[in-house]
Amino acid sequence: MFELVLATNNKNKIKEIKQILKGLQIKFYTLEDFENIENVVEDGSTFEENAVKKAREIAIQTGKLTLADDSGIEVYVLNNEPGVRSSRYAGENATDMENMVKLLDRMKGFPPERRGARFVCVIALADKENLIGTVTGSCEGIVLNEPRGGGGFGYDPVFAKLEYGKSFAELDLQVKNRISHRANAIEKTRLILERLINRES
Ligand code: IMP
Repeated sequence: MFELVLATNNKNKIKEIKQILKGLQIKFYTLEDFENIENVVEDGSTFEENAVKKAREIAIQTGKLTLADDSGIEVYVLNNEPGVRSSRYAGENATDMENMVKLLDRMKGFPPERRGARFVCVIALADKENLIGTVTGSCEGIVLNEPRGGGGFGYDPVFAKLEYGKSFAELDLQVKNRISHRANAIEKTRLILERLINRES
């Protein structure tokens, strides 16, 4: 059986990844299935650097093919900030609310046409010897003037795709998971995994 380690303990991510990879003959592992896994420090300056570092280090520790991701929000008028610093924009242990408040503060006074942003997700696949590849998924939208909606996490309440007229925190989770940066990246990863599985069988 084709084996794949998902280098995360985030239950929502695990569920979303498995859902999109449904139908592929894969035995999934998560970090909880291994003892003494050393935490990987995400100190890269790009999403790609972080995802590659995590995939390679976890593949070496587990000896198995590993999928790792890194994601965040890039706001064009802020030179793509917060980017890789999305989860710690307002400080090392900042809450989602503190990060959002800082972003809204920095965006104060910008008119709608200058509030463009995108969520980005980079996924890396590696085995214990090699990096197999990386893919990037993105989702374009705007930063709202104030938080809206109670669902989702992170920057969801202040991010909207214009054509939906709702923030990501107001959207049905199933809809968000269909159009998100992560869904986009996982779908691309599915194509790579299909090729690897076919090669093995
Ligand atoms: P990570 O990839 O889980 O490390 O995500 C880094 C940070 O990016 C999160 O803490 C959030 O602040 C932000 N982020 C990533 N994906 C999303 C999303 O789908 N919605 C809202 N915020 C997100």
